[in-house]
Parts: sequence; C-alpha cells; structure tokens
Amino acid sequence: MVKSFEQFELIEPLLKALTVLGYESPTDVQSLVIPAIKNNRDVIIKSKTGSGKTAAFAIPVLNKIIWDKKEPQVLVLTPTRELATQVRDDIFNIGRFLRIKVEAVHGKSSFDNQAKQLKQRTHVVVATPGRLIDHILSKTIDLTAITHLVIDEADEMLKMGFIDQVKEVLTHVPMNIQMILLSATMPQDIVELSNLHMVNPQLIVAKDSI
Ligand code: ADP
Ligand code: MG
Repeated sequence: MVKSFEQFELIEPLLKALTVLGYESPTDVQSLVIPAIKNNRDVIIKSKTGSGKTAAFAIPVLNKIIWDKKEPQVLVLTPTRELATQVRDDIFNIGRFLRIKVEAVHGKSSFDNQAKQLKQRTHVVVATPGRLIDHILSKTIDLTAITHLVIDEADEMLKMGFIDQVKEVLTHVPMNIQMILLSATMPQDIVELSNLHMVNPQLIVAKDSI
C-alpha cells in the first residue's frame, strides 16, 4: 500500500490542502483509486461507509481540472441533498488552494439562485438527479464540457428509485467521459448500468479501514 500522498505525483495545491485537512496517508481505497483515476480508467468502487471514498475520487479528479474553463467539467450525482451538501463541502476543502468553484444543486434550495450560480464559472457540480434534470430541461446547465461523471452511493440511488433519472442524465453528458461509480453493494441493476456506460471498468474492492 502507498504510504504517502506524495507518491501519486499530485499538483502542489492539492498536497497542501491534504496537509491542512490532516490527511497524513491515503486510506486503502484511496491508494487503489487515485492511480486508477489518474490513468483515466472507468472505475467501480465498492467499499464500506467511512473508508474515505469522497477524497478517493475528488483528489485525482481535481488534479485534472482545467482552471480557466467556464463550463462544469465534473458532475457528481448523489441520492440525497444532505449528501450533495457534504460532498460539495469535502470537494471545496480539497480544492481550496486551486480556487475550485463547486456548486450543490438539489431540490431544497432556490432554482433561480442555482441557475444564476451555474452561469458563472463552475468547475464541479454536485447534484441530486431530479433537480439536475430540471436544470437540463430548462437549459440552465451546460453539460457539454463534462469530462468526469461520478455516481456516488449508487445502491442508494437504486433503493430510492432514482435509477431511471440517472440513466436519463447519462443521455445528456458527452460520450467519452470518465465514469466513476461508488457503491457499498453491487445489485444487478448497478452492474447493468456500468456494463452499458463504462469502458472496461476496473473494479476496486478495498479492505476498508481508515
Ligand atoms: P465514505 O464516502 O467512504 O463513507 P468519506 O469520504 O465520507 O467516506 O470519509 C469519511 C471520513 O474520513 C471523513 O471525515 C473524511 O474527512 C475522512 N478521511 C478521508 N480520507 C482520509 C485520510 N486519508 N486520512 C484521514 N481522514 C480521512
Ligand atoms: Mg461516501
């Protein structure tokens, strides 16, 4: 296992943020996922709650952000607004020295405010599927520059009946994006989703400790 974040050859502002956050060494899932995402692989990540999955995808994805591009490059789908807010905060903290702009888009805050924010330069959008589709249909979000799509807590997405909405979102993002799917369990519908939309995905099952 990798002992320090330096070994991943990350850009300096990210390493600095990890130090400020007190992340001394990568968790098991992080040491497997960071190199896979850096190598542009589609990945399916199965590991339990609390194993550090947000940073596992956020670190390598932020490492690739093009700072001066106006349209969002990263889309993270989450099943609940609480999780969207949490992931938004985590990504903001990891990207703080990159001046990353990250917006949470969910049904419990003003649509118009979100639309206004999305008009400004935004690097990362963390969204629940329903409100995201509202923005897609209203043309208040531009997904043409998306290069990375993360589906967080995919099994919860399924349980809450959002799988068709996730599939709909997939029809609105560019074809050749890198996909990252996280799930605590791997039900058949999730396997089918990944078979349909991912290219030779790497399955990462981590040992879980932090
Ligand atoms: P998961 O998504 O797997 O449930 P999270 O990404 O929410 O887990 O992380 C759980 C907790 O572990 C968070 O409080 C996060 O800040 C912390 N954490 C993540 N990576 C590290 C690390 N390398 N070192 C120390 N703490 C970490
Ligand atoms: Mg998580």
